[in-house]
Formats: sequence, C-alpha cells, structure tokens
Amino acid sequence: MINVTKTFLPPLNEYIDYLKKIWESCWITNQGPLSEELESKLKDFLNVKNLLLVSNGTIALQLAIKALGLKGEIITTPYSYVATTNSIIWENCVPVFCDIESKTFCIDPDLIESKITENTSAIMATHVYGFPCDVEKIKSVADKHNLKIIYDGAHAFGVKYKNESLLNFGDISTVSFHATKLFHTIEGGAVICRDENISEKIFLYRAFGHLDDEYYTIGINGRTSEFNAAMGLCNLPGVNDFILERKKINLLYRECLNGSALGFPVIPGDIEYNYSYFPVFFSSGEKMHEMKNILYKNGINARRYFYPSLNKLPFLSTESCPVSERTASCVLCLPVFNGMSADDIKFISDVINKNIHI
Ligand SMILES: *Cc1c(COP(=O)(O)O)cnc(C)c1O
Repeated sequence: MINVTKTFLPPLNEYIDYLKKIWESCWITNQGPLSEELESKLKDFLNVKNLLLVSNGTIALQLAIKALGLKGEIITTPYSYVATTNSIIWENCVPVFCDIESKTFCIDPDLIESKITENTSAIMATHVYGFPCDVEKIKSVADKHNLKIIYDGAHAFGVKYKNESLLNFGDISTVSFHATKLFHTIEGGAVICRDENISEKIFLYRAFGHLDDEYYTIGINGRTSEFNAAMGLCNLPGVNDFILERKKINLLYRECLNGSALGFPVIPGDIEYNYSYFPVFFSSGEKMHEMKNILYKNGINARRYFYPSLNKLPFLSTESCPVSERTASCVLCLPVFNGMSADDIKFISDVINKNIHI
C-alpha cells in the first residue's frame, strides 16, 4: 500500500548517537540538554524570537488560547484539522465559523467582520496546506476590533512569506511536529511568539506553572522528552532537502496529471513554499469517492484531507460555510513523502488518468 504519507526516519546510527548521550546524562525529560539544543536550533532555522517546544500541536493551540486569556467567541476556519476547533472548545471558548477563500483554502478575510460580536476575543486561522492566510488583511481587521490572532501553522513549517517565516505572524503561531508532518519529532509541536510576556507565560504553563519551589500560576504538562528532541535534531538538518524533494514530487504530479480535469491549487508567487501536501479537487463528491475507491483497489491510500468541514461536526450547532463544505466534499490528498519514487508518482497518475472520465 502506498499511503498518503510515510514517516521519514533518519539513519538509525544517527539516532543511536543521541541515545548514547541520553544514557550518559540519564536525563530523559523535563527540558533536558537535547530539548534546549533543538529549541535553539529551531529558533535559528526559522529566525523567530521566541519558540517553546511542547508535546504536540494541539496542546500548543490550547496553551496559545490560555496565554492570550481568550474568552467567549473565537472566529475560526471550518477548513482545518479537527484539532483547531477542538482546542477552542476544550478551552471553554465558542468557535464561530467563517467561510474560506476558494483559492487559498484559508479563512476569507472579507467575511470576518460580519462574524464579530461583542463577545469575540480572537481570530484563529489555519495556513492550509502551508498556503498563507491573508495575514495583512486579518491583522487590520483584528487591530480595528481589538482582537488577538492565533495561526495554526501545523502545515507551515519552512514556509516563508515576504522573506520571513510564516510562523512569525499573528500574536501566536503554533506548529505540529507529529510523525506525519514535513518535520517531525515523533510527537511534538511548538508555540512561537514575539512578545516576551506571552513567551514567559507559556514557559510556565508548559510545566505545571512552577519553577522549583516557586508556584506562579496554574499550569499543565505540555513538555517534550529528550527522545523526541533527539529525533528532531536528527531530522532538522535535512529539512531544506525534504522541501526540494517534495517540490520535485509536486511538479512531477502536475506534469503527469496535466489535462486530467482535476483542480490543483495555485502556489502563490510571493512565498517560499514547503510543498507539504498535494491536494487535488474533483468536480463532485461522487467523482472523488469513485476515484478514492479505485485508488484504494490499486494499493494507493489517498486521504480526504480536510473532511468534514468543521462547521458540520456532529457535536456543534451548524452554521453554513458553502465554500468550505464544497471543498471538503471534493478533495483528496495524494501521497507525498520523502523517499517516494518517480515510478510511484507515475503509477498513481496513470490510475487517475485512466479512470477520471468514468
Ligand atoms: C496535525 C495538525 C494539528 C495537530 O497537531 P498534533 O501535533 O497532532 O496535535 C493541528 N492542526 C492542523 C491543521 C494539523 O494538520
């Protein structure tokens, strides 16, 4: 089976070298030397001011909501992974869905204002597939109405907008280092922000709110382990090559599927993209399902990413978001992973080309 993604594992001896260090120090968690090293290398790599490693991308979102003291309604995107919505509800806030732009799949900045009420405290948007939200327009709406901005940057690692990391925008950006992401630490994530006070809050929240015997605030366990940090240290030096390889995969798909009646996203001209996903769009949900089944019978596991449109989650009262709902019903993400062969891409494309017109 060719799965939609395949976790990259570094050469085993590189990981073992880090394991030896862990055995020598006998320090396996609680912000040990490898976690410190990875945090500092990630800050340099992304050129961001404050970055705190946490145990996953979902706790990163929850810590962000907590640190900004958000209450009431948070305007958010229906087109994301369920973690975005869940983190809002888990932190006792109310998600208010604002439909997306059909071109970028990100929240439509022109619709945000119509969703603002006296209870709105923030905007939480996702850089979908690594494509940037309209960060300027969103900032101007937020400034006008005194709202905070959180970006779920789970897909945005390595993406640059106007020559800086996309994770530098918003009051807080979060990222996921889960095994399925472009850069991973097995499980993991990070919170990124410019403001020192926010960074200090998250530093305390991440580890129960205390330093030694001084108890400053409420907190939770959001920390990462030395084993996770070691995986990150093995993987980080390869990230630029991973991106180049994925770019080749992306271009080969586009070449092979050219003229196949599928819709492809347009990569914005003003960004450095990370090629993290390869979504394709069918003319109807029926056609998508048909193709998904045909692919599966041919040993190819394409995934509906994102589905469902989050405003349709069964535990929420539904609001209508037609663009997001339509996009979610017609999308399939084709396999993209490091180490994927050109033959795999040609094979997948052939299956699609042969069956698209039925
Ligand atoms: C993967 C992902 C998350 C969750 O990250 P975890 O590290 O798995 O908790 C959140 N948002 C988006 C958009 C994601 O793709």
